[in-house]
Amino acid sequence: MALAPEEQIQVDASRTWVVGSEGASNAIASSLDAAPLAVIVDLVRTGFADTRPRLAVITGLSRKVVAQRVDQACENGLLKDAGLAHSEGGRQARRLEFNADAGYVFGVLIEASEITLGISDLRGRLLATAHEDWSVDNGPELTMQRVKLHLDALASRTGVARPWGIGVGVPGPVDYSSSRLVSPPIMPGWDGFSARSWLREHYDAPVWVDNDVNVMAIGEWAFGTGSRSDDMLFIKAGTGVGAAIISRGRLLRGQRGAAGDIGHMHVTDDPQVTCRCGQTGCLEAVAGGWSLLEEATRRSGASAMLTAAIADHGHVTLGDIGVAAHEGDPLSLEMLLARAQILGEVAASLVNFVNPGQLVIGGGVLRAGTEPLNRIKDVVLRRSTRLASEGLTVRAASLDQMEGVIGAALLAAENLLAPPALARWVEDASPLGHATALQRHDTAFV
Ligand SMILES: [Zn+2]
Repeated sequence: MALAPEEQIQVDASRTWVVGSEGASNAIASSLDAAPLAVIVDLVRTGFADTRPRLAVITGLSRKVVAQRVDQACENGLLKDAGLAHSEGGRQARRLEFNADAGYVFGVLIEASEITLGISDLRGRLLATAHEDWSVDNGPELTMQRVKLHLDALASRTGVARPWGIGVGVPGPVDYSSSRLVSPPIMPGWDGFSARSWLREHYDAPVWVDNDVNVMAIGEWAFGTGSRSDDMLFIKAGTGVGAAIISRGRLLRGQRGAAGDIGHMHVTDDPQVTCRCGQTGCLEAVAGGWSLLEEATRRSGASAMLTAAIADHGHVTLGDIGVAAHEGDPLSLEMLLARAQILGEVAASLVNFVNPGQLVIGGGVLRAGTEPLNRIKDVVLRRSTRLASEGLTVRAASLDQMEGVIGAALLAAENLLAPPALARWVEDASPLGHATALQRHDTAFV
């Protein structure tokens, strides 16, 4: 089987192997010198090749060398036999498959008022999850102890002795190169904190930390109901407000990791609108969950349902407001729709700016019934330009609030398995013991 000289095969958005053209052949050749085993595992994992003959064609390695390397990958547990391949005439080849159960990763999503945790295989499929209402106001040490308690319980439940890697999403700006939080407005006591360092003291596994909205977007992009080929704008409206942009499979983090941090965009000149960040007129201060709580508490006397909630447990929660709106409480609905209007207007501007194929809305706002989401949708479609709105899908996040934990797990798995990282440990069959070196690799979704 010969490939056309110009044949180009997209393995995924971050790696394109070009077969037959001179420059690209050199690129492949240098990869092969460094780590033919890693390249073979990667080609099978990314669906680019699933038989030994195909691997030989793509890599240019002899069939004998390919056979040896495939045997080695199978012995290491990274590839496995998957039966006979579909025949195109001639002898049928054995099909190969990536073994996503070769190892497991932890996914951790810390949000302002809840934590969600999961253990997944190397493709981001969850084996077990845990969730707890938990405020980040408890500070980093108590929060991380809580995270560890849940992770250890999940590990013993699933029999996963050691994670291969850990991905973490946090509700504040993360300097992606150092994994440290930088002046997070709604996380008192967390400035400069490194969840990576904390977890590395307790687990011998590499850790990658990102903003919560970024990992939610990764999970939704990988497993959500939309087309994976579409560019995606993900807006999270929960206690805080944030956005993430995936363009052609790449997550746009910007120079330091602050891209998409829309919560503190200036949206009103009203000097009364003060924000937790110290400025006035921020989006979060008029549309975020924490401002909703403040307003609901202040105006609760005008709502029988919110008054009842305070009588029951001493204060109003976002859950109370969602339930009240759902059951027709006029005040709760009014406050939610006012926020949906502003979110819709900001989302329309962002849609005009980045022209996504999908706009996905996630976060606590989804628990308040369909009306706020429909309002956001209406405003976006009305306020965005014709070219940007034609073919645009506006939808709710579709993974039952699990997209963040899946995305965090995928962040770890993809960083472990990207060829440069894989080459470091593939001969050992496991990344255990390579944590420090592997953490320097951050090629997933970039
Ligand atoms: Zn602000």
